Amino acid sequence: MGLLSLGTPLAWDDAKKYAEHVRHHGITQFLNIWDRMKDRTGDELLWGDEIEYMVVSFDDTEKNAKLSLRQTEILQKLSSIVSDISSGLGDDVAVPTFHPEYGRYMLESTPGAPYTGSIPDVLSVENNMRYRRNLARKHLKSHEIPMTFTSFPRLGVPGVFTEPYFDPADAVSSHSLFLPEEITNPHARFPTLTANIRRRRGSKVAMNLPLFIDERTPRPFVDPTIPWQRNIYWEDPEARNGAALLDHIYMDAMGFGMGCCCLQLTFQSCNVAEARRMYDAMVPLAPIMLALTASSPLWRGYIADVDCRWNVIAGAVDDRTEEERGLKPLKENRRRIPKSRYDSVSLYISEDWINRPEYNDIPAPVHEKIYERLRRHGIDAALARHISHLFIRDPLVIFSEMIDQDDSTSNDHFENIQSTNWQTVRFKPPPVDSAIGWRVEFRSMEVQLTDFENAAFAVFFVLLTRAILHFSLNLYVPISKVDENMQKAQKRDAVHSQRFYFRKDVFPLSSRVSSVVSSPGSVSPMDGTPNGLNGHAPSKEKKLRNCYPKFPDPDDHINFGPVDEEYVEMSIDEIMNGKGADFPGLLSLVYAYLETLDIDKTSRDRIEQYLDLIRGKSNGSLQTTATWIRNFVRNHPSYKYDSVVSQEINYDLMRSVDEIERGVRTAPGLLPECFVGSHHAHVSLT
Ligand code: ADP
Ligand code: MG
Ligand code: MG
Ligand code: MG
Ligand code: MG
Ligand code: MG
Repeated sequence: MGLLSLGTPLAWDDAKKYAEHVRHHGITQFLNIWDRMKDRTGDELLWGDEIEYMVVSFDDTEKNAKLSLRQTEILQKLSSIVSDISSGLGDDVAVPTFHPEYGRYMLESTPGAPYTGSIPDVLSVENNMRYRRNLARKHLKSHEIPMTFTSFPRLGVPGVFTEPYFDPADAVSSHSLFLPEEITNPHARFPTLTANIRRRRGSKVAMNLPLFIDERTPRPFVDPTIPWQRNIYWEDPEARNGAALLDHIYMDAMGFGMGCCCLQLTFQSCNVAEARRMYDAMVPLAPIMLALTASSPLWRGYIADVDCRWNVIAGAVDDRTEEERGLKPLKENRRRIPKSRYDSVSLYISEDWINRPEYNDIPAPVHEKIYERLRRHGIDAALARHISHLFIRDPLVIFSEMIDQDDSTSNDHFENIQSTNWQTVRFKPPPVDSAIGWRVEFRSMEVQLTDFENAAFAVFFVLLTRAILHFSLNLYVPISKVDENMQKAQKRDAVHSQRFYFRKDVFPLSSRVSSVVSSPGSVSPMDGTPNGLNGHAPSKEKKLRNCYPKFPDPDDHINFGPVDEEYVEMSIDEIMNGKGADFPGLLSLVYAYLETLDIDKTSRDRIEQYLDLIRGKSNGSLQTTATWIRNFVRNHPSYKYDSVVSQEINYDLMRSVDEIERGVRTAPGLLPECFVGSHHAHVSLT
């Protein structure tokens, strides 16, 4: 979550006075980076994952699975362990790093050094993830387990869901009816962010997820677990005055969203143009990958009628005022803002000709002065729009010690705004004074229960990014359709119940269709050159790479048709496995890309196990994590068909998930037969 600067955080009334200051210097800092880095090129593919865990504390006597609030101690211990390991191993061995996260029960881990594109590196991802999980696990108390669970099923229920217990009455930052102050990481940044979002907005955040109505769910459902009559904070009446909806699961604090775990991937590009192309390609993929990784059907002790976290987090940090949300005429505020600062991307940014201006078809307000300033500096319109759109937001956390910065050596004001725009994809400029190049982060995926699955999604996705570059794929659909897909992706069992807008013809130069994939589902060897046929037998690449040629020029006769004829609705199965003669499916494209690589059989077999998992999830032969979790609850002997996830059901669910992860319990329907749990796997870090 960005930099954890130390210092004295300003309350909202003070912080807002510095908003223009932070924006102005943030842009100066961006321009300094731009001037130094815009022509940088030749950076190799480096990439890495971020995995978030919740530390679950098991009480076997009470049969309660709770969230352990020992983050501070755990991180201290892990960082000293990690430095012991590294001193024992020498400087060239990269040991993993653990980072704090919003929840005081959360950990985040990343590989100690990014992966390269070499096949051994790509195949090290699962071991790397497992090593990190085991390292964390080994240094927790015996009843604590780090779990990759997207949303904790009983976060915010009445009674005891944390270890130790705290009373929500003390929630001075969020004023939540459900979550105590101690749910939040104690570092000043997090309580300040929580309080300043509430203060800027002028009320508590309010999220309502549709309840999954089961056979015996009382109707209309008036939630008996909401303390409707509490009167401690001035916002307490909001719930009874309309913020909490009937037949919904109501949530009122940042922790419900930022307390979720996810799987993110960051990729370095060859140069800024390739990063912008990659960013745009990832935008329409975000909802597809969200649907495939859906993992969060349980919220605040209930089963929801949605499978994903996205709308909850979007609501959880929605700091827009009523004026900005369009509920009141503009008076105090400058502009309407259509989306939360945590939401899907609103603007494509590539300068390739395939990026038609018509695709940016939703309102995306910009900070006009910043836009003009960027343009005057020589930044092109697409990038100026992107940056000045991010910069409509106010900085929420300002440390008094950090107000005056040297804009030639700091990027802190830039990052203040940039890293509190939490979108499905993030375009990351190089940091000041580092060897790191232009990067793009893919942020929509939910975390899976096992590292086999997390590695499968990471490996599939890195291969897909290379297929996109190698075959010069065009995935554009209008942003409004991507946004519709984001909503569809979160629906219950979206893989089966929804159809998504997707581009019909992903090959911009249509002569190349047959050269890539002969027919859907079957893969033929192809020419192997990135840009067209040259008649030479290609030599195969030894590794995944960056630095593809400029996007190929259009044929002379290229003639754009109407945008709305470029896409159709497809099921996830069709998007992944193909539809008709013209659309091969993303998995077939990945297979075709694999044919361009020189891979030994053992490595190839391993990669295919990952792709088989993705195929299984996309064609319905395997369940999504969300479906598996939902079924577990509904099949539990003590479930009363009333939409309630009891303490006992939650305990058994968490126990089962841990046993599945270790491989001491099978999960047919969720995992393929080749799955080997961490208990049996040999894990070493190389
Ligand atoms: P965030 O700002 O999103 O929290 P993190 O530092 O937690 O970022 O994670 C960044 C990820 O990017 C890690 O997986 C890391 O291994 C990876 N990474 C580090 N350096 C590079 C690089 N030069 N190019 C691409 N990825 C990198
Ligand atoms: Mg994180
Ligand atoms: Mg991170
Ligand atoms: Mg996060
Ligand atoms: Mg970070
Ligand atoms: Mg990240």
